[in-house]
Amino acid sequence: MSKQNEKPAVADGLWRGSSSGAGRAAVYKTVSTGSSTSSRSRAKAGKAGLGLTASDPRQGNRALRRENPNSNTPPPTDHGDLGPIWYSFDLAHKRIQPGGWTHQVTQRELPPSTDLTGVNMRLTAGSFRELHWHTADEWAYMLYGNARVTVLNPDGTIFIDDVSEGDIWYFPAGFPHSIQGLGPDGCEFLLVFDQGMFSEENTFLISEWVAHTPPSVLSKNFGLAESALAKLPTGELYIFPADLPNSLELDRAAVGGQKVQSPIQYTFKMQSMPPTKKTAGGEARVVDSRNFPVSRNIAAGLVTVKPGGIRELHWHPNASEWQFYIAGKGRMTVFSPVENARTMDFHANDVGYVPAVAGHYVENTGETDLVFLEMFKASEFLDFSLNNWIRRLPPQMVTSHLNLDEDDIKKIPAENQALIGEKK
Ligand code: MN
Ligand code: MN
Repeated sequence: MSKQNEKPAVADGLWRGSSSGAGRAAVYKTVSTGSSTSSRSRAKAGKAGLGLTASDPRQGNRALRRENPNSNTPPPTDHGDLGPIWYSFDLAHKRIQPGGWTHQVTQRELPPSTDLTGVNMRLTAGSFRELHWHTADEWAYMLYGNARVTVLNPDGTIFIDDVSEGDIWYFPAGFPHSIQGLGPDGCEFLLVFDQGMFSEENTFLISEWVAHTPPSVLSKNFGLAESALAKLPTGELYIFPADLPNSLELDRAAVGGQKVQSPIQYTFKMQSMPPTKKTAGGEARVVDSRNFPVSRNIAAGLVTVKPGGIRELHWHPNASEWQFYIAGKGRMTVFSPVENARTMDFHANDVGYVPAVAGHYVENTGETDLVFLEMFKASEFLDFSLNNWIRRLPPQMVTSHLNLDEDDIKKIPAENQALIGEKK
């Protein structure tokens, strides 16, 4: 045993548990026999001083450890390896160009997430995400500011609308659309696509199409002289600055008004809708194809958990879950067979992932509201509550499985509450 191992360091402040002689002896026995630490031996070590076993005298990214204490020193109930459940937009390459920036968390960054991909984008006032379309459906949540969006229907009608913080939009695959930042300070938004390998770098851009079509063909197609096409872009624009647009009314009128107006609504006010569920623990707002019909392939929940509260133990029968953390601080444990459980901490701009049908909870571990999005590649948001399941079973059946007293079983909430407040 080296000198360093004889003097466990606790410098990063994550060390927990007793440093009593008994604890040290128990830990040293585990270490010296060279046995790997199973959850059971870790649980035992926890009683005697888990901190000493888990102490790490040399290497460590202290900033990451402070951000994610539950990953570095997992609760003794964690076990096995169910793969990554965390990534952060703040680790992803940021493409910055005049007018804004973009970065993405896809299956390349978070390999188990094969269903959904996320993009976080900023446009300054007037700037465009250029006219384009793509192979995936696009769902979006406005995080900040104001934007104007347009989308064309196959029947030739056009949808033009303005969105602001808390609003969402949905553009089906292949439908051409645009996003423009409005005053006073443009916008920032989250995009979610229903393909794990989707890339924001790989969309069909109007600029690239005209740049890669012979001018004689463009001339014939547009009915314009080739000289009129001299200033067409010769490469991609992607994000670029432009003047602020006219008012919504003027822009709608300029293209033909009512007679070309889309009969389909592609935007929805998610944050300002009445909560789908509201308890002492917080609020949840669910938007899917039942209340926003165009949202056929992506379902979403906007969840606010009060300090001390939890998004209760639950699972989703129909899809994996892709999460985006908007504000606050939380931790999640994901449970999956056989005996796999992983706990991680989450902050604003982080992405969480839950494999299909895996059990999980999200606990607010901060002093302020925890706000996050639960996203699914599904037409409907569906979840099962562990509490609800327990309370719908004959009490004797529950007692046989969990050794809970019948009186205590009655204290468990009977309904799927989604959110449970701190026990006073
Ligand atoms: Mn798009
Ligand atoms: Mn969930």
